[in-house]
Amino acid sequence: MPLFNTEAIVLRSINLSETDKLVTFLTSHYGKVKCVAKAARKMKNRFGAALEPMSHIRLIYFGKENQTLYRLNHSDIIHSFQPIRDDLRKIYTGVYFNELIDTMIPEAHPDPHAYQLLLESLLALESRDGLETLSRLFEMRLIVLTGYTPQLSYCSICKGSPGTDRIGFSFERRGIVCEPCSFKAQPEMRFHAGTLKYLKKLKTMDVKHASRLKYPNHAEIEIERLTHRLILSYTGRELKSYPFIKNMANIMDTEL
Ligand SMILES: [Zn+2]
Repeated sequence: MPLFNTEAIVLRSINLSETDKLVTFLTSHYGKVKCVAKAARKMKNRFGAALEPMSHIRLIYFGKENQTLYRLNHSDIIHSFQPIRDDLRKIYTGVYFNELIDTMIPEAHPDPHAYQLLLESLLALESRDGLETLSRLFEMRLIVLTGYTPQLSYCSICKGSPGTDRIGFSFERRGIVCEPCSFKAQPEMRFHAGTLKYLKKLKTMDVKHASRLKYPNHAEIEIERLTHRLILSYTGRELKSYPFIKNMANIMDTEL
Protein backbone atom coordinates (compact mmCIF):
# COMPACT_ATOMS: atom_id res chain seq x y z
CA MET A 1 0.00 0.00 0.00
CA PRO A 2 1.46 3.42 -0.91
CA LEU A 3 2.87 5.70 1.77
CA PHE A 4 2.26 9.42 1.44
CA ASN A 5 4.79 11.83 2.89
CA THR A 6 3.85 15.51 2.95
CA GLU A 7 3.63 18.69 4.99
CA ALA A 8 0.18 19.38 6.41
CA ILE A 9 -1.91 21.56 8.68
CA VAL A 10 -4.38 19.92 11.06
CA LEU A 11 -7.87 21.24 10.29
CA ARG A 12 -10.02 19.16 12.62
CA SER A 13 -9.72 16.28 15.01
CA ILE A 14 -12.71 14.33 16.33
CA ASN A 15 -13.06 11.24 18.51
CA LEU A 16 -13.91 8.19 16.48
CA SER A 17 -14.00 5.58 19.22
CA GLU A 18 -12.64 5.12 22.73
CA THR A 19 -9.13 4.87 21.37
CA ASP A 20 -9.09 6.36 17.87
CA LYS A 21 -9.39 9.79 16.31
CA LEU A 22 -10.48 10.95 12.90
CA VAL A 23 -8.27 13.82 11.74
CA THR A 24 -8.74 16.10 8.73
CA PHE A 25 -5.61 17.64 7.22
CA LEU A 26 -4.87 20.13 4.50
CA THR A 27 -1.70 18.76 2.91
CA SER A 28 0.76 20.65 0.76
CA HIS A 29 0.78 17.91 -1.93
CA TYR A 30 -2.47 15.95 -1.91
CA GLY A 31 -5.12 18.48 -0.90
CA LYS A 32 -7.52 17.79 1.95
CA VAL A 33 -7.33 14.25 3.38
CA LYS A 34 -8.91 12.38 6.29
CA CYS A 35 -6.98 9.86 8.36
CA VAL A 36 -7.79 7.50 11.18
CA ALA A 37 -5.27 7.89 13.99
CA LYS A 38 -5.24 4.55 15.80
CA ALA A 39 -4.79 4.72 19.59
CA ALA A 40 -4.49 8.54 19.42
CA ARG A 41 -6.76 8.90 22.46
CA LYS A 42 -4.56 6.84 24.76
CA MET A 43 -2.67 8.77 27.44
CA LYS A 44 0.74 8.01 26.00
CA ASN A 45 0.10 8.09 22.28
CA ARG A 46 2.80 8.44 19.65
CA PHE A 47 1.19 11.45 17.97
CA GLY A 48 1.16 13.80 20.99
CA ALA A 49 0.26 17.43 20.21
CA ALA A 50 0.86 16.88 16.50
CA LEU A 51 -2.87 16.29 16.00
CA GLU A 52 -4.02 19.56 17.61
CA PRO A 53 -5.96 21.77 15.18
CA MET A 54 -3.72 24.34 13.45
CA SER A 55 -0.50 22.38 14.07
CA HIS A 56 1.86 22.53 11.08
CA ILE A 57 3.31 19.06 10.74
CA ARG A 58 5.27 16.55 8.68
CA LEU A 59 2.73 13.83 7.95
CA ILE A 60 3.08 10.24 6.79
CA TYR A 61 -0.05 8.24 6.04
CA PHE A 62 -0.95 5.24 3.93
CA GLY A 63 -3.81 3.70 2.04
CA LYS A 64 -4.90 2.98 -1.50
CA GLU A 65 -4.83 5.92 -3.85
CA ASN A 66 -8.13 7.84 -4.18
CA GLN A 67 -9.74 6.21 -1.15
CA THR A 68 -11.61 8.51 1.21
CA LEU A 69 -10.12 7.43 4.54
CA TYR A 70 -6.41 6.78 5.19
CA ARG A 71 -4.41 5.44 8.11
CA LEU A 72 -2.12 7.84 9.93
CA ASN A 73 1.37 6.46 10.26
CA HIS A 74 3.51 9.27 11.64
CA SER A 75 3.27 12.97 12.47
CA ASP A 76 5.96 15.40 13.61
CA ILE A 77 5.41 18.99 14.61
CA ILE A 78 7.14 21.56 12.40
CA HIS A 79 5.40 24.52 14.07
CA SER A 80 2.79 24.21 16.81
CA PHE A 81 1.21 27.70 16.58
CA GLN A 82 0.86 27.55 20.37
CA PRO A 83 0.73 31.40 20.72
CA ILE A 84 -2.55 31.30 18.75
CA ARG A 85 -4.02 28.75 21.17
CA ASP A 86 -2.91 30.88 24.14
CA ASP A 87 -4.90 33.91 22.95
CA LEU A 88 -8.67 33.57 23.15
CA ARG A 89 -9.44 35.87 20.26
CA LYS A 90 -6.75 34.48 18.01
CA ILE A 91 -7.80 30.90 18.60
CA TYR A 92 -11.35 31.62 17.37
CA THR A 93 -9.96 33.31 14.28
CA GLY A 94 -7.68 30.32 13.61
CA VAL A 95 -10.57 27.90 14.07
CA TYR A 96 -12.61 30.05 11.67
CA PHE A 97 -9.83 29.88 9.02
CA ASN A 98 -9.70 26.10 9.42
CA GLU A 99 -13.46 25.74 9.14
CA LEU A 100 -13.56 27.93 6.02
CA ILE A 101 -10.90 25.75 4.38
CA ASP A 102 -12.62 22.55 5.50
CA THR A 103 -15.95 23.76 4.09
CA MET A 104 -14.78 25.37 0.85
CA ILE A 105 -11.96 23.06 -0.28
CA PRO A 106 -13.07 19.64 -1.58
CA GLU A 107 -11.24 16.45 -0.57
CA ALA A 108 -8.34 15.07 -2.60
CA HIS A 109 -7.97 18.06 -4.91
CA PRO A 110 -4.35 19.18 -4.56
CA ASP A 111 -4.37 22.93 -4.02
CA PRO A 112 -0.94 24.31 -3.08
CA HIS A 113 -2.31 27.88 -3.19
CA ALA A 114 -4.94 27.13 -0.53
CA TYR A 115 -2.27 25.42 1.57
CA GLN A 116 0.04 28.42 1.23
CA LEU A 117 -2.80 30.81 2.08
CA LEU A 118 -3.68 28.93 5.27
CA LEU A 119 -0.06 28.56 6.41
CA GLU A 120 0.79 32.23 5.78
CA SER A 121 -2.44 33.36 7.45
CA LEU A 122 -1.73 31.31 10.58
CA LEU A 123 1.81 32.74 10.69
CA ALA A 124 0.38 36.27 10.39
CA LEU A 125 -2.24 35.49 13.04
CA GLU A 126 0.43 34.24 15.42
CA SER A 127 2.70 37.25 15.12
CA ARG A 128 0.36 40.21 14.68
CA ASP A 129 -2.80 41.98 15.74
CA GLY A 130 -5.25 43.45 13.22
CA LEU A 131 -7.32 40.28 13.12
CA GLU A 132 -10.23 41.89 11.28
CA THR A 133 -8.15 42.91 8.25
CA LEU A 134 -6.45 39.52 8.20
CA SER A 135 -9.83 37.74 8.35
CA ARG A 136 -11.23 39.80 5.45
CA LEU A 137 -8.10 39.14 3.40
CA PHE A 138 -8.31 35.42 4.14
CA GLU A 139 -12.00 35.30 3.18
CA MET A 140 -11.52 37.20 -0.07
CA ARG A 141 -8.39 35.30 -1.15
CA LEU A 142 -10.12 31.98 -0.44
CA ILE A 143 -13.21 33.07 -2.40
CA VAL A 144 -10.93 33.87 -5.36
CA LEU A 145 -9.08 30.53 -5.05
CA THR A 146 -12.34 28.58 -5.17
CA GLY A 147 -13.22 30.31 -8.45
CA TYR A 148 -16.07 32.28 -6.89
CA THR A 149 -14.40 35.61 -7.66
CA PRO A 150 -16.67 38.67 -7.48
CA GLN A 151 -16.59 40.94 -10.52
CA LEU A 152 -15.49 44.37 -9.26
CA SER A 153 -14.16 46.15 -12.37
CA TYR A 154 -17.29 47.22 -14.25
CA CYS A 155 -21.07 47.12 -13.92
CA SER A 156 -22.16 43.49 -14.33
CA ILE A 157 -25.24 44.60 -16.32
CA CYS A 158 -24.22 47.42 -18.70
CA LYS A 159 -20.42 46.79 -18.47
CA GLY A 160 -20.02 50.53 -17.86
CA SER A 161 -18.05 52.37 -15.19
CA PRO A 162 -19.36 51.69 -11.68
CA GLY A 163 -19.58 55.43 -10.93
CA THR A 164 -18.29 57.50 -8.05
CA ASP A 165 -21.18 57.55 -5.58
CA ARG A 166 -22.99 54.44 -4.33
CA ILE A 167 -22.29 51.06 -5.87
CA GLY A 168 -24.65 48.10 -5.78
CA PHE A 169 -23.73 44.45 -5.55
CA SER A 170 -25.84 41.68 -7.02
CA PHE A 171 -25.23 38.20 -5.58
CA GLU A 172 -27.14 36.65 -8.45
CA ARG A 173 -24.68 38.20 -10.93
CA ARG A 174 -21.84 38.06 -8.40
CA GLY A 175 -20.77 41.52 -9.44
CA ILE A 176 -21.10 45.25 -8.93
CA VAL A 177 -24.01 47.23 -10.40
CA CYS A 178 -23.81 50.92 -11.37
CA GLU A 179 -26.30 53.49 -10.02
CA PRO A 180 -28.51 53.71 -13.19
CA CYS A 181 -28.73 49.90 -13.49
CA SER A 182 -29.52 49.62 -9.76
CA PHE A 183 -33.04 50.92 -10.42
CA LYS A 184 -33.97 47.86 -12.45
CA ALA A 185 -31.63 45.27 -10.93
CA GLN A 186 -32.39 46.00 -7.25
CA PRO A 187 -29.00 44.83 -5.92
CA GLU A 188 -29.08 43.18 -2.47
CA MET A 189 -26.30 45.38 -1.14
CA ARG A 190 -24.91 48.86 -1.63
CA PHE A 191 -21.64 50.38 -0.55
CA HIS A 192 -19.61 53.58 -0.93
CA ALA A 193 -17.62 53.84 -4.17
CA GLY A 194 -14.51 54.38 -2.03
CA THR A 195 -14.84 50.86 -0.59
CA LEU A 196 -14.32 49.34 -4.03
CA LYS A 197 -10.57 49.98 -4.13
CA TYR A 198 -10.08 48.12 -0.83
CA LEU A 199 -12.15 45.18 -2.06
CA LYS A 200 -9.99 44.99 -5.20
CA LYS A 201 -6.83 45.04 -3.09
CA LEU A 202 -8.13 42.17 -0.93
CA LYS A 203 -8.54 39.98 -4.02
CA THR A 204 -4.82 39.90 -4.77
CA MET A 205 -2.95 41.16 -1.71
CA ASP A 206 -0.22 38.99 -0.20
CA VAL A 207 -1.07 37.90 3.37
CA LYS A 208 2.42 38.98 4.45
CA HIS A 209 1.38 42.59 3.71
CA ALA A 210 -1.98 42.44 5.50
CA SER A 211 -0.85 44.83 8.24
CA ARG A 212 -0.22 47.55 5.63
CA LEU A 213 -3.88 47.66 4.66
CA LYS A 214 -5.79 50.35 6.54
CA TYR A 215 -9.30 51.47 5.73
CA PRO A 216 -11.92 53.75 7.30
CA ASN A 217 -14.57 52.31 9.65
CA HIS A 218 -17.46 52.47 7.19
CA ALA A 219 -15.40 50.56 4.62
CA GLU A 220 -14.55 47.89 7.21
CA ILE A 221 -18.24 47.28 7.92
CA GLU A 222 -19.15 47.21 4.22
CA ILE A 223 -16.29 44.86 3.32
CA GLU A 224 -17.22 42.48 6.15
CA ARG A 225 -20.88 42.39 5.03
CA LEU A 226 -19.88 41.65 1.45
CA THR A 227 -17.30 38.90 2.12
CA HIS A 228 -19.61 37.27 4.67
CA ARG A 229 -22.53 37.23 2.21
CA LEU A 230 -20.28 35.88 -0.55
CA ILE A 231 -19.18 33.03 1.68
CA LEU A 232 -22.77 32.34 2.73
CA SER A 233 -23.91 32.20 -0.88
CA TYR A 234 -21.07 29.77 -1.65
CA THR A 235 -21.45 27.47 1.37
CA GLY A 236 -25.23 27.78 1.73
CA ARG A 237 -24.98 27.85 5.52
CA GLU A 238 -23.46 29.83 8.37
CA LEU A 239 -20.17 28.45 9.66
CA LYS A 240 -20.24 27.22 13.27
CA SER A 241 -17.25 29.33 14.31
CA TYR A 242 -18.54 32.58 12.78
CA PRO A 243 -20.77 33.69 15.72
CA PHE A 244 -17.81 33.12 18.06
CA ILE A 245 -15.47 35.46 16.23
CA LYS A 246 -18.25 38.06 16.01
CA ASN A 247 -18.92 37.84 19.75
CA MET A 248 -15.23 38.01 20.57
CA ALA A 249 -14.83 41.12 18.38
CA ASN A 250 -17.77 42.78 20.18
CA ILE A 251 -16.40 41.96 23.64
CA MET A 252 -12.95 43.29 22.73
CA ASP A 253 -14.44 46.50 21.26
CA THR A 254 -16.49 47.08 24.44
CA GLU A 255 -13.40 46.67 26.62
CA LEU A 256 -11.54 49.27 24.58
ZN1 LIG B 1 -24.78 49.49 -15.25
